[in-house]
Amino acid sequence: MSACGVLLCAGSSSRMGFDKLNTPLNGMTAIERSMRALIAGGCVSLVFAVNDESEKTVASLDCPVPYVTVRGGVSRTESVRNALQAVHEDVAVIHDAARCFVSPELVRSCIESAAAYGSGVAAIPMTDTVMQQANGVTQTLDRSTLWRMQTPQAFLTDRIAAAYAQGDAATDDATLYTRFIGAPHFVPGSEENRKLTTEADWAWATAKNGADYGVGFDTHRLVEGRRLFLGGVEIPFEKGLLGHSDADVLLHAIMDAILGACKLGDIGKLFPDTDERYRGISSRELLREVQKLVQKRDMQVRHVDATVICQRPKLAPYRETMERTIAEDLKIPFEAVSVKATTTEGMNDEGRGLCISAQAIASVNRKA
Ligand code: MG
Repeated sequence: MSACGVLLCAGSSSRMGFDKLNTPLNGMTAIERSMRALIAGGCVSLVFAVNDESEKTVASLDCPVPYVTVRGGVSRTESVRNALQAVHEDVAVIHDAARCFVSPELVRSCIESAAAYGSGVAAIPMTDTVMQQANGVTQTLDRSTLWRMQTPQAFLTDRIAAAYAQGDAATDDATLYTRFIGAPHFVPGSEENRKLTTEADWAWATAKNGADYGVGFDTHRLVEGRRLFLGGVEIPFEKGLLGHSDADVLLHAIMDAILGACKLGDIGKLFPDTDERYRGISSRELLREVQKLVQKRDMQVRHVDATVICQRPKLAPYRETMERTIAEDLKIPFEAVSVKATTTEGMNDEGRGLCISAQAIASVNRKA
């Protein structure tokens, strides 16, 4: 029996302040994650129910199986009803794209259950106590009889299409199936198959893979006759930093931190000062190179924090511009970059104005 995945990507993110389906999460959108799981779990074709935004995401995906997009409706029910008209396989596997950590194994179990019993819907037993309070009556429900419904929900296509042809609004497919066809067959779902609904869900998801960390440190001499660049920003000052490139000590420390987190070596190895190509080069170009290397490794910079150690000039007026410049080159949000500055109260070589130093820490996520 062949299966078609129906991926619901038309929902608005009203409970989250941003677009949860189309924003990369550890390097991959929820739509792409869900798509991959459906295909890996055995779906041989896909129907995406989309809105304007998710249509663009789907178009960028290079979906490896035959697919069509259909316009989502004003409700989930309408979206599924529209999508089912485009399903030509024996089994329809309906899945909310917001449950993007679904495993291929769970998709496969639902398809096998649909082939054997006509339906296979992911559900997990209720472990919390559930109370009902309505019309002045409060009671505890028997949780041993309660299930939390997830997706995927797989059905023989003609049966679920028949249910949708008769049905009105419902929050899932199993509800309409029960109403018009019969009791669906449950397949054990999983807590990992969590729906990204709130900001807490998003925080859980971004932390899921854990992060890798790297530190960086750099120092350059302050000399006359050079322009001063820090954090990719030119700063008016009577001296500049001495080096083969523009000697942007802050970007150098940040690059080394990122490279360390990805186990990619250091800038001395990648951009040797014996190489004429790098003479006088803007360190922003090198930072953008580093960003590309990170991407090639299927990783993504999550956060960068740095401290510049410098007696003069005062850096406070340039901090935000530095942060914006670094965020832009790394293709990460402004909120994910922090630049600080400190003096050494006149002590050490930084304090005597002989040099400027910088320290940085970076965290990266693995795409997964
Ligand atoms: Mg350096």
